[in-house]
Formats: sequence, C-alpha cells, structure tokens
Amino acid sequence: MYIGRFAPSPTGPLHFGSLVAALGSFLDARARGGLWLVRIEDIDPPREQPGASDAILHTLDAFGLHWDGEVLYQGRRSAVYEAALERLARDGLTYPCACSRKEIAEASARRGLPPGVYPGRCRSGLPPGRRGRALRLRVDETVIEFDDGLQGAIRQDLAAEVGDFIIRRADGPFAYHLAVVVDDAEQGITHIVRGADLLDSTPRQIYLQRLLGVASPHYLHLPVAVDARGDKLSKQTHAAPLEPDRAAGDALWHALNFLQQVPPAALRGAPPAELLGWAVSHWAPEHLPASQTRLASDAVSGVTR
Ligand code: GLU
Repeated sequence: MYIGRFAPSPTGPLHFGSLVAALGSFLDARARGGLWLVRIEDIDPPREQPGASDAILHTLDAFGLHWDGEVLYQGRRSAVYEAALERLARDGLTYPCACSRKEIAEASARRGLPPGVYPGRCRSGLPPGRRGRALRLRVDETVIEFDDGLQGAIRQDLAAEVGDFIIRRADGPFAYHLAVVVDDAEQGITHIVRGADLLDSTPRQIYLQRLLGVASPHYLHLPVAVDARGDKLSKQTHAAPLEPDRAAGDALWHALNFLQQVPPAALRGAPPAELLGWAVSHWAPEHLPASQTRLASDAVSGVTR
C-alpha cells in the first residue's frame, strides 16, 4: 500500500515552486496505484494569509490534482499534538527553555558552535529567575541516517549539527516537526515526496518518529525551483501565483519539464487531465534531476530580466 501526501502551509497562493512538489508527490502516488492526500498545515497563524487554504485547494482542483478523502487541517488538531508532547514529556525528553535568539547566538559563538545549534543552556534547568518560554526536545541519539529516493544516502549528526530543538514555540504554536510527524503517522503516510529545502529537517523528523514509536516513511526530496538570482521561488521573491482558471496546462507543462518528465510536443497546450494522464503512465523517477536546486525558466519564476 502506498499513501502519499502534499502538505502546503497556507502562507499564500500556490506558485510554480509549490506546484513542483504537489505534482511530484501526486505522480509518484498515482503511478504506483497509491492514495494521495492533502493536508493543510495551518499551525502558524502569524504567517498565514486569509483565504489561502481555499485558494490552494481550488488551484489543485483546477490543475486536475485531485486528492483522496478529506483534507486534514492541522489547525484543528491541537489536542493530538498536545498528547504527543505529553508523551515526550513523560519520557523526560522535553524541557522548558528561556533563551532568546540573541542569547543563543551569543552562547553558540562563544563556544564555537555552528550557527543555529542550541548550546544547551537550559538543558539542566532554567537559569535562576527566568521563565520557560519554548519547549525543547533533548537530542541524545546523535547520528541519523536514511536513504533518500533521489538525493541518496543522507547522514546528520543531530546533536552536533542541530542540538536540542524546539517542539513548542515561545509564542504558542506546536513546531512544524512535531505536527508533521504526528500527522504523517496518523494518516499512514508511506512515501513523502517534497522539496529539498526540507532535506535538512528530515533527520529531526525521523528522530521524533523513533521517540514516538511510529514507522518512518520513505523520503524523496525533489530539487527546489530557484530563479535567475538563485533564490527559491516564494512570495518574497515575487513568484507569480498560479492562475487556477487559466494557463493550468501551461504551468503543468513547465513543471513536468522541470522534473525531466518531458511530454511529447503534441501535448503542448493540452488540458490538465490529458497532460496528467500522460505523466502518470510515463512517470520515470529515474529521470528526476538529483540536485537540491534547479533553475526555473523565466516564464514561471516571476523574474523579468
Ligand atoms: N508545510 C510545509 C511547507 O509548506 C511542508 C511540509 C512537508 O511537506 O513536510 O513547507
């Protein structure tokens, strides 16, 4: 049984970069006779845009990327994440942290740690007079290894390269890593196909899967679309939003070419259903570009040179 998923955060409309992740996970699932689920990762209200969830779902539908079952909304699942957190706390794996970003940066610099690695100041208790803000997870098992379906053997020394990481933020929300692991497990996800910008997060997620006693899915990280300046396409780089009711076939055409699944010229301008039908029956993961980034054509990147 194959169960795949696409898990967008509703921070804005879909653009070419997110289409690549949606399309890659959809094709891999459908070509293997699997299910393809959609989960809206709305656990970070300050970064979200009103109406974005509905706009994303409308666009997927208009592009012929039809999902199975009900859409899962993370915003409605706090009780489930809380339960996972309690389990980790019972096992003595979490602790409150009072550190500000500035304190962390200063302490890491003093100790010569790579930027972003938590220096462990609150690990054995809060400093006197300080209040815990975020919750951190202890990282004791150090090396995580996995075999990525496209990027090959990946190895991360979690303690040295990441350190104890946040699973509940100071401003309230559950961390992405916790929610994503709980939901992938509960939805029975067997295969995760997503952008290589998340490659670095995967060892943290595998570590959490082990602590929570759930299976690890197979991972495949696709190249991330970058513009001519080398920046990942995003709202910040002015990536053009996909137009759901126009030019869907054209965007899919570019996305298939980006993934080196090259449709016959006769399908240029074909409607989405036809292009996707071709792409499912000709899905060739061995042709996927095995880099972590790939230049998107000017036609889709939003860059005008
Ligand atoms: N919600 C995450 C994002 O939009 C992706 C999560 C995932 O695929 O694991 O970047």
